[in-house]
Amino acid sequence: MQKITLEELVAYLKEQGFVFQGSEIYGGLANAWDYGPLGVELKRNIKNAWWKKFVQNNRYNVGLDAALLMNKEVWVASGHIGSFSDPLVDCKKCHSRFRADKLIEDYTHGEITGDGMSNEELTKYLLDHKIVCPTCGALDYTDIRQFNLMFKTHMGVIEEAKSEVYLRPETAQGIFVNFKNIQRTTRRKLPFGVGQIGKSFRNEITPGNFIFRTREFEQMELEFFCKPGTELEWFSYWRKYCMDFLKSIGVDGEKLRYRDHEQKELSFYSNATTDIEFEFPWGFGELWGIASRTNYDLNAHQTHSKENLEYLDPETNTKYLPYVVEPSVGVERMLLSILFSAYDEEKDETGKVTRTVLRLHPAIAPYKVAVLPLIKKNHSEKAYEIFDLLSEHFQAVYDETANVGKRYRRQDAIGTPYCICVDDNTINDGTVTVRDRDTMEQITLKVEEVIPYIDSKLKF
Ligand code: ATP
Repeated sequence: MQKITLEELVAYLKEQGFVFQGSEIYGGLANAWDYGPLGVELKRNIKNAWWKKFVQNNRYNVGLDAALLMNKEVWVASGHIGSFSDPLVDCKKCHSRFRADKLIEDYTHGEITGDGMSNEELTKYLLDHKIVCPTCGALDYTDIRQFNLMFKTHMGVIEEAKSEVYLRPETAQGIFVNFKNIQRTTRRKLPFGVGQIGKSFRNEITPGNFIFRTREFEQMELEFFCKPGTELEWFSYWRKYCMDFLKSIGVDGEKLRYRDHEQKELSFYSNATTDIEFEFPWGFGELWGIASRTNYDLNAHQTHSKENLEYLDPETNTKYLPYVVEPSVGVERMLLSILFSAYDEEKDETGKVTRTVLRLHPAIAPYKVAVLPLIKKNHSEKAYEIFDLLSEHFQAVYDETANVGKRYRRQDAIGTPYCICVDDNTINDGTVTVRDRDTMEQITLKVEEVIPYIDSKLKF
C-alpha cells in the first residue's frame, strides 16, 4: 500500500530539508529543484552506492568523467542532432502542449508507452481512443511534429552557427568517444565496461511528477563493451545485476518490474531492450533503461570521425568493433523510488501516537548516526567529542535541542538508522546507548565499538 502521495512527499521533503523548489525566492523556476542538506547527502550516497557496485567492486569496469560540453560533431555522429526528438502535439483549443506518446502512456496507466510508434500511429491511437486534452477536455489536436530535446548554447564571445554547442542529453557519448583512450591506457581486454556519473540536460516537452522528469538531471551510465555474439548473455547479466542492486539498496521489490521491449518497439540498432519500472503513485514509470546497442555508437563515431576505433582481439588476432550493453539510470528517479519504498508511518504501543520513519538502508541514509547528549549542560562536551570522532568515518549529526524522545523521532523521520545517547555512563565508563531506528531497541556499547558496529551495517 502507498503510504504517501506525491504531493505529501514533496511537502515532506521540503519541510525536512531534502528538496526545495529551485530559485524559490524569485517565484521558482518550473521543474527545477535544489537539494538541501539532507537531499545532497542522500543523492551522494546513491551515487556512491552505484559507483561502488558498478565500478569499484566490479572486476570488469573502470570509471570516467568526461566534459559536459563536447564537439558538435559528436552529436551529429550519434544521431542526436538529427533525431533526438519527441512527438509534440498541441491542443488547438487551449494551446497546451504535450508529448503524444506520454498522453497514451498516461491514458493506459503505463501499459502502452507509444515507444516506436510513428506520428501517424500516435495520431490514430489518440483519436481512436478519444484521448482528450488533459487541460481542457477537447479532442482537437494539431499534427504531431518532432521536437529536438537538446539545449543549444554558444561557446565563446560570438554567437554564430560555428560557435554552437549543446548541453549533453546523456553521458554515454563521452564514453564512446574515449573508448580508444580507455582501452589503450588500461590495457583492458574484452569484455570491459566504463561507468560515468554526471549531469544531463533535455528540453523535455512535459517535465513533471516532481523530480521524475526534469530538464536538468543526473545519470549513472555504464557502457559495457563485449565481443559480438556475446552481447545477449551480457544483456541478461546486467539486467539482473541492476535489479539486484535496486533491491539491495532498499527499493521495494514488490513495486519493481521488468518491461521487455517488443520487437516493434526496439530502436533499429538494438537487439534487446528492457526497462526496469517502478510503481510510482501515478503508475509504473521507467527507472532504468538497459539496452543491447550492438556496435551502433562506435560504428557511427568511427565513420564520422574517420578514426579507427576497432579492437584488436589478442586471442584471434582479428580486428572488430565491440558490441555494447548499456544500463542507464537517473539519480533522481532512483532517489524517488527509494523514498517511496522507505516512507512509513507506525503507531506506537498505545496506538495513539504515530511516528514517521524513513526506513532507508543505512548505506543510503543521509546521516548514519545522530549524537544526542541526554542533558545539554552535562553531556554536550563529551557528545561533541564523540561527534568529532564519528564524523571522521561517516555522515553524522549532532542534536541537543528538545527532549531525547523528540530527538529520536526527528531522526526517525529523516532516516537516521542509529542514535547515540551520551549520558553520565559515557563520562564514567565510556559507554553509550545505541538506538536502532527500525526496532527502537537500545544496546550499550563502548565508544570505540560504535565505529565497527555501524560500519558492519553499511554493507549492501
Ligand atoms: P523517458 O521515456 O522516461 O523519457 P528515456 O527512455 O528517454 O526516458 P533514457 O534516454 O533511456 O530515458 O535515459 C536513461 C535514464 O535516464 C532513464 O531511465 C531515467 O532514469 C533517466 N532520465 C531520462 N530522462 C530524464 C529526465 N528528463 N528527468 C530525470 N531522469 C531522466
